[in-house]
Amino acid sequence: MDESSQLNQLAEKVTKSAEQLASSDFEDNELPWRQYCTPYRIFLAEFLLVRTRTDVVAKLYEDIFRAYPSLEAIAAASDDELAVALNPLGLQKRVPYLKRAAEYLLHNHDGEIPCDIDELMKVPGLGVYTATAIEAFACDLPSVPADVNILRFVSRLTGLEMEHITKGSKAIRALLPFLSMRNSGLRPQNLLDFTRLICRPRNPLCSKCPLTEMCAYFELHNPK
Ligand code: SF4
Repeated sequence: MDESSQLNQLAEKVTKSAEQLASSDFEDNELPWRQYCTPYRIFLAEFLLVRTRTDVVAKLYEDIFRAYPSLEAIAAASDDELAVALNPLGLQKRVPYLKRAAEYLLHNHDGEIPCDIDELMKVPGLGVYTATAIEAFACDLPSVPADVNILRFVSRLTGLEMEHITKGSKAIRALLPFLSMRNSGLRPQNLLDFTRLICRPRNPLCSKCPLTEMCAYFELHNPK
């Protein structure tokens, strides 16, 4: 089979699995930034979630939000003050990025979070993952944030190799749009939490997964 027919077949599998996941609820609505969800709360959460575990951010999120409830509050704070607030998350070195991002949004977007990936990618300190996550969660657009858990899930489901530990591979990334809400009805929050809690990095909870019959990883580890 040539490469493009193989990719088409895998795209069908990814679409079917996304439809299946859409009919199950894995969403963790207890996460603090999912309650009283506003674009700024999502922006702050996604900034803090870079290189930091979700459960660790969840414990400290409300304290940080209370201290810095707006882009204006971040822009007005001193670097030292912000470093103290972000130190428990090990993010003190990202303080200049956070300040520059807040200042950029205040000056260029009147303090609004733009719902456009190209505009978001211009914000200093926002990488492609964070920009996509903000677009998906703050703007309700059908984007698929390519975090490492989602890339690993696609790799397990399809049997495609993760050529790079955090970036997956070209083929894996090409399959991401088939997981989108527009394509399958799967909410990005549901996908994110499924890959964090069920198809988790170590010891995936296959016994709780509705995809065992189509999953290459499951087949490999559970031969008939
Ligand atoms: S069967 Fe297991 S490895 Fe496959 S998608 Fe489900 S949890 Fe992940």
